[in-house]
Amino acid sequence: MEPKFIPLSVPNFCGNERNYVNDAVVSEWVSTGGSLVPKFERAIADYCGAKGAVACNSGTSGLHLAALAAGVGPGDEVLVPTLTFIAAVNPVRYAGAEPVFIGCDDSLCMDPALVGEYLAAHAEMQDGRCVNKSTGAHIKALVVVHVFGNMADMPRLLEVAKQYGLIVIEDATEALGTRYTDGPLAGKMAGTMGDIGVYSFNGNKIITTGAGGMAVSDNEEYLAHMKHLSTQAKSDELNYKHDEIGYNYRLTNVQAAMGLAQLEQLEGFIAHKNEMYEFYRERLDGKHHYRILPFVGGVRSNKWFYSLCVEDSHPLRRDEIIQKLAAAKIQTRPIWGLIQDQADYPKNESYGCELARHYLDRIVNLPCSTSLTKEDAQRVVDVLLSL
Ligand SMILES: *Cc1c(COP(=O)(O)O)cnc(C)c1O
Repeated sequence: MEPKFIPLSVPNFCGNERNYVNDAVVSEWVSTGGSLVPKFERAIADYCGAKGAVACNSGTSGLHLAALAAGVGPGDEVLVPTLTFIAAVNPVRYAGAEPVFIGCDDSLCMDPALVGEYLAAHAEMQDGRCVNKSTGAHIKALVVVHVFGNMADMPRLLEVAKQYGLIVIEDATEALGTRYTDGPLAGKMAGTMGDIGVYSFNGNKIITTGAGGMAVSDNEEYLAHMKHLSTQAKSDELNYKHDEIGYNYRLTNVQAAMGLAQLEQLEGFIAHKNEMYEFYRERLDGKHHYRILPFVGGVRSNKWFYSLCVEDSHPLRRDEIIQKLAAAKIQTRPIWGLIQDQADYPKNESYGCELARHYLDRIVNLPCSTSLTKEDAQRVVDVLLSL
């Protein structure tokens, strides 16, 4: 018999999704109006402990709104991670600014030491603004990504951002529910420690609305501006007056219905992700030239994606391992290519990216759906140990 296909990460609709979506359809509120969008915004803001939230039609559009609200524009530079999904970086360009790529630490997230070193060597403060000494650009903001649900080192990143007056945008698209349990930021959720945080509800994220996103902030001005920009910057509802260039970035009521049902299950999903992470870790970490990369301590992580690191002593290369798994009907994927190598970003500045380049060729993301069974995970383990 053919073995069953084990997907990398698929959505899980075992709660009230059908009921709430059906109610939305029956109510005929299927577009961007309706009561469920503000209800979902409130629910996410309350869950995260943020003052407010602005729903949008993707995490990418949320990051674009965040950059615009932060005042990022032409002539500015923004520090970004190189080891991430490109949607963390492109919004900087949409806003007309240039990214500067910074390497990671062993959490795979942006390394605060590298940020500090880069700024100390390449920037100086002029009239309270952080200026890049070689380009003359204003380094206005920093985008930090909480990679795979891990927590970037926020106490240190916030400290260096404060020293240089940088606005901090948290790309928490992969880290909904990840929070500090210890340390100076205990109780704080990923996405709520910088100036603006963004979540994604794409189909592969820990909860999904099909496509969707949410920007959160404690700053009322940012919240109001992001909402305004997301709704075509309409300043007069009745007479169709628009006071700046806006976007159609709103989430729909149907998607919000799905999001509310998914949010009810989030804590259960996180518990499952944590349990299956331990399952893989016990069976694979330190075995047969594999490591299961750890999540940082002092944090309750949502453990969205699991990273298998293939040691150089393994008889096979990472890509061969992915192919063998695929032949056994197990879907995995390599970590992203560095963003500084993509599109036309090679012309942008980068700093301290050696460790990111090291991980680039060695990481495989293992199946991690919230419906993954131990039986299926054991099959993944058995195939990996046989290679
Ligand atoms: C998913 C993701 C995004 C973008 O979210 P979409 O909802 O797919 O637009 C941005 N950054 C990172 C790191 C992501 O993983």
